[in-house]
Amino acid sequence: MFTKLLIANRGEISCRIIKTAKRMGVLTVALYSDADQQALHVKMADEAVYVGPSPSKDSYLQGEKIIQIALQVGADAVHPGYGFLSENANFANLCKQNNIVFVGPPVAAIEAMGSKSAAKNIMEKANVPLVPGYHGDDQSEAGLKSHADKMGYPVLLKAAAGGGGKGMRQVWSSEEFNDALAAAKREAMSSFNDDLMLVEKYLTQPRHVEIQVFCDNFGDGVYLFERDCSVQRRHQKVIEEAPAFGMSKELRAQMGEAALKAAKAINYAGAGTVEFLLDSDGQFYFMEMNTRLQVEHPVTEMITGQDLVEWQLRVANNETLPMAQDALGIHGHAFEARIYAEDPNNDFLPATGTLSLLQPPVESQHVRVDTGVVQGDDVSVFYDPMIAKLIVWDENREKALARLTKALTEYHIDGVVTNIEFLYNLANSEPFKNEQIDTGFIEKNQELLQLNEAQDVQTLLPVAALYLMLNTQQNSNTSQQDSHSPWAQGNAWRANEQHIQTLDLLVGENTYAVQVSQIGMGAKSVFSITVGQQNYHCSGELAQNQMLSTINGHKTLANVTAHQDGYSIFSNGKVIRFNNIQADLGDIEDNAADAGFVAPMNGTVVAILVEPQQSVEKGQTLMVMEAMKMEHSLKAPADGVVSEFYFKAGELVDGGVELLAFQPSEKAS
Ligand code: ADP
Repeated sequence: MFTKLLIANRGEISCRIIKTAKRMGVLTVALYSDADQQALHVKMADEAVYVGPSPSKDSYLQGEKIIQIALQVGADAVHPGYGFLSENANFANLCKQNNIVFVGPPVAAIEAMGSKSAAKNIMEKANVPLVPGYHGDDQSEAGLKSHADKMGYPVLLKAAAGGGGKGMRQVWSSEEFNDALAAAKREAMSSFNDDLMLVEKYLTQPRHVEIQVFCDNFGDGVYLFERDCSVQRRHQKVIEEAPAFGMSKELRAQMGEAALKAAKAINYAGAGTVEFLLDSDGQFYFMEMNTRLQVEHPVTEMITGQDLVEWQLRVANNETLPMAQDALGIHGHAFEARIYAEDPNNDFLPATGTLSLLQPPVESQHVRVDTGVVQGDDVSVFYDPMIAKLIVWDENREKALARLTKALTEYHIDGVVTNIEFLYNLANSEPFKNEQIDTGFIEKNQELLQLNEAQDVQTLLPVAALYLMLNTQQNSNTSQQDSHSPWAQGNAWRANEQHIQTLDLLVGENTYAVQVSQIGMGAKSVFSITVGQQNYHCSGELAQNQMLSTINGHKTLANVTAHQDGYSIFSNGKVIRFNNIQADLGDIEDNAADAGFVAPMNGTVVAILVEPQQSVEKGQTLMVMEAMKMEHSLKAPADGVVSEFYFKAGELVDGGVELLAFQPSEKAS
């Protein structure tokens, strides 16, 4: 085996490769750009070398520089991961020239699959079924159009050099063709500096089903079954699963054999993926072959029990394939959801920022998290904004899907906008559960998947209010010595009073007034919480940052984090962030004046707004306290005077202590 492996990549895939290399006793060398100096992959590797400024073109794409680094550190192999230089034939060639093993296929195989049209020519000769279309040399507008007209619309224009869905255009009629061609060519030129186009029949409801193949350097090859990656947005994968649902044994074998035929046609070695479109009638068509490890390889690992990075290293080290075809089997079902810093409400625009909270679900035999970031890291503008891949496994699709939705509700991220809620809606949707899936899934189900922020806020406001009440109680209870005090009796604000309190919760730009009153006492407090016209019967228990709440009979577990600007509550795949909360002690009934003014919880006196002995009117704010990021205004219950304030601004007070002495006018007179 190699002694030292340089990983010419960053982020989660670098971390992923380092894990396997470590297990196999191979030393690892990471690269880092300016932006990545403190990155996880740098910390995990045995060695790390600076490669250049933050932009990829100045760092992770600097093939020659990376070779120099590999030589300097004495690496005998380079793993390119995915993206960056992984499908760059020049880089693979440079490795070879310098006697460094490139962990990937032979240069010629990368070249053969580098162009979609050249690849289709090769596959055609090897009798691999192709999406009907034209992939020849006649690139004239009239020539391409006549092929499209003959094929019948819709057609799909594709850049031969394309990738990542760029340079692709659907064309629905002959009239649209020329404009679409011009647009696709422009995009291809600016993305790949190459505007060679192909025309394909546009299949309207296909599935994207791809086969994982592996070949060694001795002419042997196996397929590790399929992945369904139909759920896409802008032709990019969102959730992947393995195996694909509804596959018969025969179809699986046919597609597997076709994929191997494709690999063998180009003398492939290493890990590769042959992508097919699968029609509803069971016809499948070759689309392209990716000559690298795919982002979604973990779902294959979960159902086969194999470590594909280990396979890659063994094959690159000239070993035979670790397993024969008939020894490989499918066990259970796996999903992968790509967690991205992006805004689903804003056309999935990439988001940047600091991951002020990053709490993944607990990993187990059912849950795996592949990531390259930790809490406090930045999602920068320089690289792909993927935060993590959440992978789940269980015995069958239904159970695995339940694992996925649960794990998504346990994934808590703050500081950066993410697609987690969108993924949750998707995984939890009926058509996804019912396998009504093709590549148009997201577009077709837009309404179902759309995030309805207003509705989420409405749903979570009572949860937020309940949390504040329980938290207040808990704080007062723990700080309270006197068990006869109203605080110890489990009534948040004042015993023996039906007291309605208004909480003003700031969510985003909006303030919501939430009315709360306690309607039950005893071991478990029950609150009546009103949001708008809606009334909720709420109770709950708080343990550290978890709250088990019952809202109108519906039990849910919520996770709460306090941060600089307030709180985030994660519940049922949704999150509410509320800031600058103002709590109003409400209209205090006349007789409440006697009850005195006590601190609702441990906190600080923020301001004293009137002078002692100054006349005040009923409702005038006398003092402001702050506790647990809530401001509490203490108001005059009646006209009168404050005879004495027991604390000064800035002083800490314990929950339950008397804050001031108030004399209502009638009594003063
Ligand atoms: P890229 O290399 O840019 O990712 P692909 O050729 O892999 O492009 O296609 C990306 C996605 O576009 C596929 O997964 C599929 O959803 C869709 N697609 C590609 N070709 C067709 C086609 N002929 N008909 C319908 N959809 C297609």
